[in-house]
Amino acid sequence: MDIFSHGLWTAAAYKTIELRQKKHFKIWWAVFFSLAPDLFSFGILFTTRLITLRLFQPEFIDDKGLHPELVPQYVHILYNWTHSFVIFGAVFGLVWLFLKRSFWELGAWGFHIASDIFTHTDAFFPTPFLWPFFDYRASIISWANPNFLIPNYILLVSIYCIFFFIIKKRKDVVKLNHESR
Ligand SMILES: [Zn+2]
Repeated sequence: MDIFSHGLWTAAAYKTIELRQKKHFKIWWAVFFSLAPDLFSFGILFTTRLITLRLFQPEFIDDKGLHPELVPQYVHILYNWTHSFVIFGAVFGLVWLFLKRSFWELGAWGFHIASDIFTHTDAFFPTPFLWPFFDYRASIISWANPNFLIPNYILLVSIYCIFFFIIKKRKDVVKLNHESR
């Protein structure tokens, strides 16, 4: 998915669990981990291009389409590391052992990988979710395809409107209780 959708879906998912289960999460940490797989792969490439003022002419996009073979090799390597359930599972387990408790916000990294599996195609960076053990990658629909992108954002806007009303309603109830005392 695009990086904004990753952040927005993650915040929505963690907020929903908070509202339903009365748990408390550090949602900004979850959002950070939902962006991290792309920040630490393509983010590095875009930052270097920004510094060298070449952000708007990437050679891997032209009028014929996308050319993943023209993306620098280090991005492919970082993409494997950041988009693998194997690496995510190992890190999640190690953090759990180290902290002696689960760090659920880190789960947003796994959520990122899961959502990328369904929103990439063979044309550009299908998700290497079983790397380094298996090279199987799904090819379903690109997140940039309007058939996905438009319903995706309609859903996100609807979900955030619902949150807005739920939170406003809760605040009104608290205010009413306070005033009636
Ligand atoms: Zn990604």
